[in-house]
Amino acid sequence: MDISYPPEAKSFRAHVRRVLAEELPPNWTGIGSIPGRREALDFWESWRATLHRRGLLGLTWPKEYGGQGLSQLHQVVLVEELMRAGVPSGGLNDMVSIKMIGNILLLWGTEEQKRHFVPRILSNEHIWCQGFSEPEAGSDLASLRTRARLDGDEWVIDGQKIWTTMAHRANWIFVLARTDPDAPKHRGISFPLVPIDQPGVEVRQIKMMNGDDDFCEVFFDGARTPADHVVGPVNGGWKVAKSLLGFERGEEAATLPIAFRAELDRLIALARERGLADDPVIRQRLAACYCRVESMRHLGYRVLTGYLKGEPPGPESSVLKLYWSEYHQDVTTLAMDILGDAGLVPRGRGPLRSMRTDDPGAPIDSTGSWTTTYLNARAGTIYAGASEIQRNIIAETVLGLPREPVTG
Ligand SMILES: Cc1cc2nc3c(=O)[nH]c(=O)nc-3n(C[C@H](O)[C@H](O)[C@H](O)COP(=O)(O)OP(=O)(O)OC[C@H]3O[C@@H](n4cnc5c(N)ncnc54)[C@H](O)[C@@H]3O)c2cc1C
Repeated sequence: MDISYPPEAKSFRAHVRRVLAEELPPNWTGIGSIPGRREALDFWESWRATLHRRGLLGLTWPKEYGGQGLSQLHQVVLVEELMRAGVPSGGLNDMVSIKMIGNILLLWGTEEQKRHFVPRILSNEHIWCQGFSEPEAGSDLASLRTRARLDGDEWVIDGQKIWTTMAHRANWIFVLARTDPDAPKHRGISFPLVPIDQPGVEVRQIKMMNGDDDFCEVFFDGARTPADHVVGPVNGGWKVAKSLLGFERGEEAATLPIAFRAELDRLIALARERGLADDPVIRQRLAACYCRVESMRHLGYRVLTGYLKGEPPGPESSVLKLYWSEYHQDVTTLAMDILGDAGLVPRGRGPLRSMRTDDPGAPIDSTGSWTTTYLNARAGTIYAGASEIQRNIIAETVLGLPREPVTG
């Protein structure tokens, strides 16, 4: 496998470095070094606008919908450079807005849907959240009960979603709703796009154990959306949902290891600072983490090769999801062991987003950052499908082993 970058990557890297030099303040050391949460969130919001203004969002999306028409390789180079500079590669909700629904609209949307929604995603006029899970439908998502019925030229939606990340910051939600209650459970589901700012939608935040309240419940009581705001065929939403989960689990295959590597480098620096770099067990564990990040990087390159041929993420994205989420629990547990007692009295702010790694450029001795990341990592093996579910998918779809018995 040749993993050297082609010449166009070099010129694009130089372009990104020029933009960063022009846009970041002098002596900038990373968003993680901004001490106050409010101040850091403000920077993040304005940085997202900068990325948009400088054409660094939606890099791989077609130009006719506001993207740049570049390749996934350019996206990898971009993330490498942004991580090196300690700045995020998108906004707070872009894990949903860009990574999930934007990519899904490009794959499944009608021409009108693409022209209407995609530029508004890039400009942040539309901020999205994901309305899949319900109180009785998580792993067994197809058991969902939220209903949508056609009333003239509008869908009317009733039901409840839960664990809807960042719904309080969103103004649109994509919903999985039952549109044919008589069909077998995977067949009567559709994928409507619903505006949140209307009387029929109520968002309630949920307080988490780490103090964050980014989780929400979303209640629909006669909520309305136009009939042509369904993505994919009516009653054919399950296929759209499955391809969205592919993006959710695998789209960052080639870029996520870059963030994990930066985080591991900070952990190695922390071990040195604490005088533990020559501890034989800590050294072994750090080396094991390094091997796992490198394995992820090479798995990422393999997935990237598929992207470059135009293949969307498939079931092998479950391999990545399983691998990174279990790795991240181990590496953050190691961080807590390195911190020892200091981990019990967190100092400094936690990361701005309660998922994945700490903030790029976070000070290595910010116990608040490591402790929050450790707590957040517990959720990594649950969201986007729990580890047991990923193993089921790998067993059945990748390895062709017998299927689990399915009910309904
Ligand atoms: C941080 C976080 C963010 C999230 N954000 C969103 C969001 O924005 N939008 C959204 O829609 N949802 C979101 N979720 C919800 C998430 O998708 C669900 O929590 C997840 O799918 C698991 O569903 P559940 O919580 O109902 O657990 P359950 O499905 O009840 O599972 C409980 C346990 O049983 C195991 N289990 C279940 N079925 C099987 C099986 N067939 N074989 C073996 N083991 C099984 C599971 O692995 C798990 O350990 C989020 C969750 C978290 C933690």
